[in-house]
Amino acid sequence: MNMNGKMLSVAILSMAFSQGLCAQQSTSVVAHRGYWKCEGSAENSLTSLQRAYDAGCWGSELDIWLTADGRLVVNHDAETLDGVKIEEADFETVTASKLKNGETIPALESYLEKGKKLSPMVLVLELKTQSTPERNKEIAQKVVAMVQSMDMESQVEYIAFSNLVGTELIRLAPGAKVAYLNGDKTPAQLKALGYTGLDYEDNVLKKHTPWIREAHDLGLTVNVWTVNKADDLQYFIDRGVDFITTNEPVLLLEMLKAKK
Ligand code: MG
Repeated sequence: MNMNGKMLSVAILSMAFSQGLCAQQSTSVVAHRGYWKCEGSAENSLTSLQRAYDAGCWGSELDIWLTADGRLVVNHDAETLDGVKIEEADFETVTASKLKNGETIPALESYLEKGKKLSPMVLVLELKTQSTPERNKEIAQKVVAMVQSMDMESQVEYIAFSNLVGTELIRLAPGAKVAYLNGDKTPAQLKALGYTGLDYEDNVLKKHTPWIREAHDLGLTVNVWTVNKADDLQYFIDRGVDFITTNEPVLLLEMLKAKK
């Protein structure tokens, strides 16, 4: 190799190295169930979505259920605060139930309408595992159809614990980003199933730290939940995960800003 060739190799190597470092710095902040640890907010409320945007989050996560009459609503638990079982109740009853801040449980459509106005913040749609395989297929089909009808494909990503829901999403929305939550599959297994990323609990990724590198080598994204303490946030920033899902988005944003 002549001198020019050597210099070129050094340039390419240093470029690759600096890109590697950049990759480590590009952790994005996902507000877990919106940003709700602030005045007037509550998990999965429309206010929490606005607050996540106001705080400067890259994305905001939400949880989706299917009512007995086949409609989509946003809530974390299987039951509302006043004890209504979402899968067994109709849409009208569920959406009359209140969240902790006094808002009513949002229809997914209202939530997406609000989120669309907050573009480019990404909405990370978690499809909760329903009580039957048929309902798991139905929720996947209905969420994808709604996102498509609202022309929001480029603003959403999907996550699910259920591999049936996940693989339905992959089948129904080719090109969409779909990550698996349940922590029991290797990056290679997820890649083979067509997932674009893993989204694992902090304890799982601490136990299997090589999975972060393995996922990246396979072109998969790495998200970790739900990380709230400064030293845990730092642990995952240092390991170059792509996304951290947190109840403390403002703290994480400050830590990332301080790092720059
Ligand atoms: Mg969730």
